[in-house]
Amino acid sequence: MTARMATARLLAVLVGSLMPVAQGPLLAQLEYRPIKPAYDDGNVEALPVRGNVHLVAGSGANVVVQVAPDGLLVVDTSVAAMSEKVLAAIKTISEKPIRNIINTSADEHHTGGNENLSNAGRNLNAGIGGPSGREPARLEGAPVIAHELVLHRMSGLKGEAPRMPFGVWPHDTFFTNRKQIYFADEVVEMLHMPAAHTDGDLIVWFRKSDVVSTGDVFSTVTYPMIDLTRGGSVQGILNALNSILDITFPEFNNQGGTLVVPGHGRICNESDVAEYRDMTTIIRDRIQSMIDKRMTLAQVKAAGPSKDYDGVYSTPAWTGEMFVEAIYTDLTRARRR
Ligand SMILES: [Zn+2]
Repeated sequence: MTARMATARLLAVLVGSLMPVAQGPLLAQLEYRPIKPAYDDGNVEALPVRGNVHLVAGSGANVVVQVAPDGLLVVDTSVAAMSEKVLAAIKTISEKPIRNIINTSADEHHTGGNENLSNAGRNLNAGIGGPSGREPARLEGAPVIAHELVLHRMSGLKGEAPRMPFGVWPHDTFFTNRKQIYFADEVVEMLHMPAAHTDGDLIVWFRKSDVVSTGDVFSTVTYPMIDLTRGGSVQGILNALNSILDITFPEFNNQGGTLVVPGHGRICNESDVAEYRDMTTIIRDRIQSMIDKRMTLAQVKAAGPSKDYDGVYSTPAWTGEMFVEAIYTDLTRARRR
């Protein structure tokens, strides 16, 4: 029996022993209410992940920082309004300048700080070539790397309105399924996850540190944010979660090993990703079987296919009902094709 099962059994016995006296108000208090820790509440802190990889948490989205002798690589920049706090937290990890920034999607709450963090950094190639021996001004800061589709979304090429401000656009994009750079004595891989949360999602794999930064294809505090208007899909989310599981491995008893930093929430390991993949699969399958029975969206919503997970993953901004509607729309859209 695992420690968790033993605790659950002990609790069941204790609750059972309370039952005879637990009438009325006391019984109501025993109702299951999961405690949600406050994430992204504006209290920004730096936490070690492993080796040279750190997490700056609490600003609105997780920011991952990798430290090299000559500077820093940063994954995602959170919202612009929090840049000062994010930069202050990064300084507690290292005083070195930011050299590279990677964006995991075009989402404003992951890219809003691009301009501020880029300007605070320094391009490794600055000062070489260009007029007066200088690179153009935009490249004096740290370059922002993203999938090409992120630039298309931000710049309005995909019909996005309003376009995002020029200052947050990435400087360096790619359209292949992966891009690798060598930084801080290890290979850093950017893997494109097509049609997942959006169409331009990346996960970032620090191969030697054995850490994966996932952006919004994975979260411990919300359902997968399937953004249908920006090319997201439930199958793409599942594919992305399976891709993460392909490169993660536990140390012992399904625990430890590869560490996974989600777009939002706590530092995880492989089993957390598997659980999240299974949750998404279960809810997707429930909705698919309801669609097969020709149930309407209203009937599916009324049946509550996400109800048993809502206590953990439903938030005011992305409720269980919104998640269910996105999956329903996605699956019925796929059937019409
Ligand atoms: Zn996010």
